[in-house]
Amino acid sequence: MLLRPPVREHLLPLMDGLLREFSTLHRLSGCEGAEQAARRMVSLLQEQGLDARLMHCPLYLSDPLAGRLRLPEQPQWQCDAKTRSFSAHCPQGVEGRAYYDAVACEPRTDLEWRSWAQDVRGKIVIAGQGFEDYVQRLCAAGAAGLIHIWGSAETALHEETVGPVWGTPEPDDFLRYPRLPVICVNQQDGQRLLAQLQREPLLVLEIATELNFHVAECSMPVVDIPGTTPEFVLLSSHYDAWHEGVTDNATGNALCLAMAIHFHQQPQTLLRGLRIIWWSGHSNARYGGSTWYADNYRQQLKQHCVAHINVDSPGCLDAVDVVLNASGAESHVFLNAAVEAVTGEPARRITTLGKGGDQSFWGCGLPLHFAFREVPLEKTSQSPGSGGGWWWHTEADTYDKVDLNILWRDTQIHAHWLESLLTQPALPLAPLAYLNGLQQSLAELISAISPEFDLRLVAEKLQQLQPVLAELTAKWQKDPMTWQPQLKQAIAGLHRLRYSSVDDFHYDLSYRGGAFPGFQELAAQRGETSPEMWLMMTTRFCRQRDRALSLLENVAAICRS
Ligand SMILES: [Zn+2]
Repeated sequence: MLLRPPVREHLLPLMDGLLREFSTLHRLSGCEGAEQAARRMVSLLQEQGLDARLMHCPLYLSDPLAGRLRLPEQPQWQCDAKTRSFSAHCPQGVEGRAYYDAVACEPRTDLEWRSWAQDVRGKIVIAGQGFEDYVQRLCAAGAAGLIHIWGSAETALHEETVGPVWGTPEPDDFLRYPRLPVICVNQQDGQRLLAQLQREPLLVLEIATELNFHVAECSMPVVDIPGTTPEFVLLSSHYDAWHEGVTDNATGNALCLAMAIHFHQQPQTLLRGLRIIWWSGHSNARYGGSTWYADNYRQQLKQHCVAHINVDSPGCLDAVDVVLNASGAESHVFLNAAVEAVTGEPARRITTLGKGGDQSFWGCGLPLHFAFREVPLEKTSQSPGSGGGWWWHTEADTYDKVDLNILWRDTQIHAHWLESLLTQPALPLAPLAYLNGLQQSLAELISAISPEFDLRLVAEKLQQLQPVLAELTAKWQKDPMTWQPQLKQAIAGLHRLRYSSVDDFHYDLSYRGGAFPGFQELAAQRGETSPEMWLMMTTRFCRQRDRALSLLENVAAICRS
């Protein structure tokens, strides 16, 4: 079935209109501007004849309000600072000796972390990073605070989070939130601070933070374009933003709006439905909206959803190169065909999905998960988002950072993917390539950790799965309709192993990434590890090994059924 292609003259003005409206709305979840944006999205869809509505989810929000750095003995010394979502709220300020962690970005062994913990106790640590796991260690070590010096030269200060909990916390998770204030300064101010510290090794610092922690009912627009079968594809983008966030993520919201109108206006009925959701809680609730959706719609997702495509920050100025993040189960021919059809070239690279970006569905049985990214020819900022632009997560993420031609390119690429997924009975699955990738990742992991953590049984089980999965794949290629349900389930089982270390109803901590997260933190050498940590790692290893074996047995049983 061939669909009508998307019409630029029709869709781009609507998308541009949305960008201009959203560029005047501060859209942090819980704010009136965000609610206004959600209502506007629904009314725009309804004006186009779509049956859109709002869902409402309560979220636990952490809004960073202010961060401050002072040198008590030199009151004239000044610099700008911002705090982080889920930093501790310390408006009265904390004082402490400065400690510069010059190798904060390097890996450390357990024994090195132990001696580091002695050094940072009671100190205000200055470091070149502020990742959640680092903040967790600082907290456990009793550090007084953290000053994160941004790693690239732009003067603008970026918003970020140090919340380690994925989505809304449960009572036990609540203890995980940092109890120390965290601020960020730009590189220039950071260098000035370090120069001061060099002159005055006993330098005392004071940092203060103000945050607003609150629970709010947040709206999420949703629209369904039905197909002839109950199966559907989930297309999503977060509509909440830091500040007016035009490239992160009004452009993604506009792309999703265009896809809703485009597929709704096709004369023929689609084979699969298209469900589009605009998430809240991405920024100040650590993916709270998508996690709430997984918690509340798990059965529907498990039964009927075949793919999740997350759209975050398309259409960015200078972002000429397309890169893709995919779970590994997607056929590269399928992924690249859309990119080639629009740009004449395949994606610059296809890499596995990292931890982040509303990837909240590993326990929901979906076989396909992928996300479009883009980068400039030369990257000068450490920004991981907004197409590599320095303005990412700052007040400068304004309308002038959009390139409408690039946004249209990105929209067309999504239209190609969706057309295939919504009309072709056979899904673009690459089960054997995925299994092969898993075996490689496991081999890399085995060579990186102590041989005492013996993963050979898991490697053998993966190897034994090869012929069984090959047989199912061959049957599916001949008769997709009969064998696709089993194949989807088998792949979803492998995703649980590759992307998660918990059961279907829980979420890994936000920093627990990499292949086989359950095995990621195991040590390279016993001699570098304290006895108690070794015992804890061994315990984790046993449980995760048995989880892996059990998952692989299930996958093999599904393949044989
Ligand atoms: Zn984003």
